Amino acid sequence: MSVRLNLETLPDSIYAVELQKDPPAARFPEPLEAQFARATLRNSRTVVRFACTLTVLLVALRVAELLVTRHALPVSLVNAGVVLSSLVLVWLAWSRSFERLFLPIAWTLVPLRNVLIAVQVVRAVAGTGAVAELMVLPLLIIGPLYFIGLPFRAGLLSAALACAGELFAAYLFHLPASVAVPTAGILLTTLAACAVAARSVEKHSRRAFLESQLIGELAQQDALTWTKNRRMFDESLARLWRQAASETRPLSILLIDIDYFKAFNDRYGHQAGDVALRQAAQAIQCCARRPLDVVARYGGEEFGAILFGTDRSGAQSTAEAMRRAVQDLAIEHDGSRCGSVLTISVGVAVVEPTAWRNPYGALQLADEALYQAKSKGRNRVVMMDDAAHRLLVTGEFSKDIITQLRRDAPAS
Ligand code: GH3
Ligand code: MG
Ligand code: MG
Repeated sequence: MSVRLNLETLPDSIYAVELQKDPPAARFPEPLEAQFARATLRNSRTVVRFACTLTVLLVALRVAELLVTRHALPVSLVNAGVVLSSLVLVWLAWSRSFERLFLPIAWTLVPLRNVLIAVQVVRAVAGTGAVAELMVLPLLIIGPLYFIGLPFRAGLLSAALACAGELFAAYLFHLPASVAVPTAGILLTTLAACAVAARSVEKHSRRAFLESQLIGELAQQDALTWTKNRRMFDESLARLWRQAASETRPLSILLIDIDYFKAFNDRYGHQAGDVALRQAAQAIQCCARRPLDVVARYGGEEFGAILFGTDRSGAQSTAEAMRRAVQDLAIEHDGSRCGSVLTISVGVAVVEPTAWRNPYGALQLADEALYQAKSKGRNRVVMMDDAAHRLLVTGEFSKDIITQLRRDAPAS
């Protein structure tokens, strides 16, 4: 049984938006295009390494052949350029900075090197009459379009420039017409056929990229609220905990719960409840938009937020902003006993993670803060900080400690 996804129900996803375009875009809007180029490069890394290494081996063979047959090397700026650029490309292909550096450099270096090779080959053939050497020229078209990890447009530009270089050199070095015309014919036909095929391959790989990204996005997201789902929250917490511990940065965990939501459902119906839940989720999410911030649906009408590197005052102002943002939505709530509109309560734990502790104690601390926000009247923020967290020995609060915390806790 195949399941078809209605892409129109996913307007917030850039991948779904691009997948609906007919005809598909030849180029995505940034930063999606850069993301696609990086993914393509990552997938073709082995092929790129193979192609770059092979090129260097061919250059080395050519040098060896010249040394053996002529006992001398034709040292020139052009030859030095070819050798140097091939070495740079092979180094990049094998280096750790491959994903960061290869594309920006290959964009200019590959066309430049291939034009130089085309000119050199034609010049050599014009001088020696060894037309067999012209057989290397189609590689200058096929390589950039299929083997160097360049996006289609860059590959096409490089292949077209190599063709132009050959034509120009044939004219410049007076290649006999009986050789120049068939060579030009073969190269232009190869260029046209490879361009059509490479364009079609790229169209498919763009679509596969969008589909795999969309699947990844859907697997991380809560379908109703479009915040991250619980699994992502747990994974992010474990990851950010480790990062905060190794960088000695604070971590703030917020647990957010809608006040009297059962009464809201009872009064306005479950569907209206869903709409309100989604609106509240979006309002909460808008308050935590830094790159490492995480907002997730923790369960039911409860959300969790993780703020990396945020200290007590930052966490308190973010939590307050979330509380105000939901209140300012002014969603009527007759059944609330703490006001006439939908509100939230927020429990905040601000902790300094260490490698030998797990994050569950901090989560329990935030839960305790939320419990207190509820019992102190709702529609408020309660903060707990590292002093309370240090009371934890095993990751669990004892009953005595909870009693003490409930007695001492401040509310904002
Ligand atoms: P409190 O202020 O103490 O949090 O009271 P409450 O009524 O919000 O808490 P309670 O745990 O008693 O009820 C939670 C309600 O949230 C009950 C459930 O129907 C509702 N809820 C949970 N998930 C959803 C959902 O996805 N959609 C809707 N419409 N309601 C939901
Ligand atoms: Mg509630
Ligand atoms: Mg709840």
